[in-house]
Amino acid sequence: MVVPILLVVIGVAALSHTAPFPFLLDAAAGKVSVWRMQPADPRAIYLTFDDGPNSTVPPALLDLLKDRNVRVTFFLIGEHVTEATAPIVRRMFAEGHAIGQHSGDRWLMLHSESRLIAELQNEASRIELLTGYRPCPIFRPHAGWRSIPMFRTMSRLHYRLVGWSWLTWDWYWFRRRTGDRVAHQVLAHARPGKIIVIHDGHHRNSRADRQYALEATRRIIDGLRAKSHNFAAFCGSTSSQSTPVP
Ligand SMILES: [Zn+2]
Repeated sequence: MVVPILLVVIGVAALSHTAPFPFLLDAAAGKVSVWRMQPADPRAIYLTFDDGPNSTVPPALLDLLKDRNVRVTFFLIGEHVTEATAPIVRRMFAEGHAIGQHSGDRWLMLHSESRLIAELQNEASRIELLTGYRPCPIFRPHAGWRSIPMFRTMSRLHYRLVGWSWLTWDWYWFRRRTGDRVAHQVLAHARPGKIIVIHDGHHRNSRADRQYALEATRRIIDGLRAKSHNFAAFCGSTSSQSTPVP
């Protein structure tokens, strides 16, 4: 009897830190943890992009977003923001997109509160130094791996930890990602207030081929518009409607 109970306890503890949906730690964190929005615009959906900046896809992605007049949220990995990619990031800011912080390291989950505070602040300052703009106070942990010190850090820095909504993501555990497949999945599950995640970058390789992300985004924007949806970004960036600050 002891072994099954122990396994359940271990399973629940592991899920609390890694679940791709809000679970125990998020319930305890309250408003600091965001996995779905309640937008002022009842038709708004949140497009978010992870693991950039990528030196290959985002210029074309930014062209597409500009063309369709859509503001999105980019969660950038600090190490990928360099002299070489700074112009792309500057353009993201200048064109009204929201920029949040991300990490390419799942094990940030094991860092202490004081270390996380220093890391997030140093990274934000470095991005500001390179681009002239400071990211807004939102953070998405890699793969959603989170911890109590991470939530404490969010509270201390007045950040919010941003997840994503159930099934509105672009990864498949056993299948290759294609623009068509990703768009199909996202369009099937998109609802107002949902937070969609697409990877325009790669957590290790800032030159990875993410062409599928561009193709998926085009189909998702056009598909959602056809269903009369609007788009919103975090931190008050708006496409056409007002958006609550997270
Ligand atoms: Zn990531």
